Amino acid sequence: MQQINDLLDAKLIEKHRSQEKRNYLGASMLGDECIRKIQLQYMRHEMDFSAQNLRTFAIGHCLEDLIAEWIRLAGFDLRTRNENNEQFSFSIANGKIARHVDGIIFSGPDFLKYPLLWECKTMSNKSWNDTQKRGVLVTKPMYYAQVQLYMAYLDLEANPCMFTALNKDTSELYHELIAFDAEAAQRYSDRAVQIIKATENNELLPCVSSDSSFFRCKMCGFRNECFKK
Ligand code: SF4
Repeated sequence: MQQINDLLDAKLIEKHRSQEKRNYLGASMLGDECIRKIQLQYMRHEMDFSAQNLRTFAIGHCLEDLIAEWIRLAGFDLRTRNENNEQFSFSIANGKIARHVDGIIFSGPDFLKYPLLWECKTMSNKSWNDTQKRGVLVTKPMYYAQVQLYMAYLDLEANPCMFTALNKDTSELYHELIAFDAEAAQRYSDRAVQIIKATENNELLPCVSSDSSFFRCKMCGFRNECFKK
């Protein structure tokens, strides 16, 4: 019955809009191809998420908890919260750049070295197959940037990050070890500084495209904002 769907959608969107918006630049965004998009998020502009998007994000969080359980079952000392029961996080530049991380693995099977960063994603079949074939750096540059910054800011550069991806359609797992890349970490850190400075100077950074039908813009929640007349 469509009326029930509509009601649930409306309530989910209402709840999302009532939540406090972050007032920092999330390190997970810094690898996005569009610097304007990262800046608009930092400026706390409202992104138009559909109820379907919001459900997808929520399901992803639940699945992450399940995957963490499987990893612990395999003998890894994976912790997703610190001794104060808070998520592991960092905050730099007077709190202007911050992020929670999925977890840290402190010990485990001896074919890996510890401690190491754990990053977990869930993907559609197509996206997962592509990642498995061509790797995170090529297929998911945003995730690559994210883990590089996390390793740098949490002093976890010594050992590669364990990247876990679950195929939501087939339940297959993919694991990749991503080594620290100092040059990339510096590049994304510089990008963060550029965004913060431009915002403080009331400058809007460039759009990735001037064409609203560009594929990145077509999928972007700021499309109306960037291309309004
Ligand atoms: S609509 Fe396009 S240009 Fe505007 S923020 Fe999104 S991706 Fe960037």
